[in-house]
Amino acid sequence: MNKALRQTVIAGNWKMNKTRPEAKELIEAIKPLAEKADCGVVICVPFTNLETAVELTKGTNIKVGAENVHFEKSGAFTGEISADMLTEIGVEYVIIGHSERRQYFGETDETVNKRTKAALAAGLKPIVCVGELLWERECGITEEIVARQIKLDLFDVSAEDVKKTIIAYEPVWAIGTGKVATSEQAEEVCKLIRDTLAKLYSQEVADAVTIQYGGSMNPSNCEELLAQPDVDGGLIGGASLKAEQFGVLLNAASK
Ligand code: PEP
Repeated sequence: MNKALRQTVIAGNWKMNKTRPEAKELIEAIKPLAEKADCGVVICVPFTNLETAVELTKGTNIKVGAENVHFEKSGAFTGEISADMLTEIGVEYVIIGHSERRQYFGETDETVNKRTKAALAAGLKPIVCVGELLWERECGITEEIVARQIKLDLFDVSAEDVKKTIIAYEPVWAIGTGKVATSEQAEEVCKLIRDTLAKLYSQEVADAVTIQYGGSMNPSNCEELLAQPDVDGGLIGGASLKAEQFGVLLNAASK
């Protein structure tokens, strides 16, 4: 395994937080911290903040992502946003299949797969989220759950496209709960994801894919998690809403 073969990326997931003035303030505070970062820096913000974020980050190393995308190009899908609508305003990344989408909005592996393919076709870089529920871990089926999600979510995605895709391993029990996976648990599943990609594609493809850990990553636990050989950054919820905390994570990922 060679970390030099892929980019380490820290991506913030703002979820349903920040009005436009609040978003401006946070982005302005993140900018000088991101400038020094030797890793990919992405902020995934609510749809209403996308244009503001794209505008304010022009000429910086901060990339902007959305938190969801629909799989159809256009049509009668009230409340949805297409991939072309995102790229047209300068969005480069999109989170797909976050556990909150799966849990509260009926997202399935089939729709995650469709959204991933639509995003890639439009030139967006998807951040595809996978991860087990607490009872699935307790039943000892984490490996089969996550491997199944990888197979279904990436079905029919070419090797070339999978290299443009970020996989975020987010154990559902660790998201927003303050319960963090141990670095051993995070490494074990991130490695399993890489091994699954190697079987589906090739070792060369698997080594090129960025695999993040997400789930209560914060300044006090990030160093150990990010030091794991198969953990290539993080998808960050709570700690991405505080510039100084996000800055610590960027520093840790730059080492
Ligand atoms: C997330 O929403 O993807 C996440 C990991 O949240 P938190 O960092 O707050 O657990």
